[in-house]
Amino acid sequence: MYTRIDGKETGAALRLTIREAVEKRKAEGKRVPGLAVIIVGEDPASKIYVRNKHRACEEVGFLSRVYELSSSTSESQLIQLVEDLNRDDEIDGILVQLPLPPHLNEKSIIAKINPDKDVDAFHTFNVGRVMLGNYRFAPCTPAGIMELLKAYDISPRGKECVVVGRSNIVGKPMAMLLLAADGTVTIAHSRTKALAEVTRRADILVVAIGKARFITADMVKEGAVVIDVGMDRDENGKLCGDVDFDAVAPKCSFITPVPGGVGPMTITMLLKNTLVSAESRS
Ligand code: NAP
Repeated sequence: MYTRIDGKETGAALRLTIREAVEKRKAEGKRVPGLAVIIVGEDPASKIYVRNKHRACEEVGFLSRVYELSSSTSESQLIQLVEDLNRDDEIDGILVQLPLPPHLNEKSIIAKINPDKDVDAFHTFNVGRVMLGNYRFAPCTPAGIMELLKAYDISPRGKECVVVGRSNIVGKPMAMLLLAADGTVTIAHSRTKALAEVTRRADILVVAIGKARFITADMVKEGAVVIDVGMDRDENGKLCGDVDFDAVAPKCSFITPVPGGVGPMTITMLLKNTLVSAESRS
């Protein structure tokens, strides 16, 4: 018998506490936290993500500013906007929606964000702080997974934790957060030999590879906790994860579904990081 980890419910509960913190700030005469999101171009998926972030800000009572720039925006124009927002006292978090059009260099734009307002935690300074285990913001998806583990009383301490995927936004920071929580951490990737042998060692298995239902039941240890980060489409165009949920779930103690698992936590952690930033500023 397994427990389905409910990211919708956990995210909603956390957003309620964020909303209460905003109300408390208002009652104390402080300003509401402010998030600025910059989107360049017309990528339809990015537009949906930005709209969702705006709605989430409204739900918790944040100031939300969305800057929709044309795909012909130059690097210097974009940097100018980032620098204006760095100086803007109403804004606690700055997020540049990725991917950017190819003529814009993502690394050099992210580098211009004031690390204290880098609520995505993609700036090298914040990446380094996560590495040192001494951070104010962690990247939203791994941070959301740590919140889910906490909500379900799952401690990584002393456990075999396997992270499949080594991207800068999910796999690597996930491994660092599990390590900081005293897990024994292995990172696997596309060059890992005998992947199933590695994943079968996991007490906690986090999968972030972007391949529909890639993790099958024979790759999972009996009683494991399985966290599925994937947001994939199957052959029928249906949203699914990197884990073959129906086959794997009966072997698990806990498992996240897709949708409704990790996804709802990501935006919630963006709000939390913005609140943390606001609290440190005033
Ligand atoms: P990514 O940058 O494409 O990285 C994928 C990683 O998976 C790479 O490290 C790659 O290894 C590894 N990989 C690919 N095929 C593999 C295989 N056959 N065996 C083992 N490892 C393999 O992806 P990402 O940005 O981390 O995202 C991963 C998934 O999570 C995607 O489905 C994405 O949509 C989803 N996602 C969801 C959320 C959310 O909020 N729910 C947030 C972010 C991402 P190499 O490094 O060797 O190439």
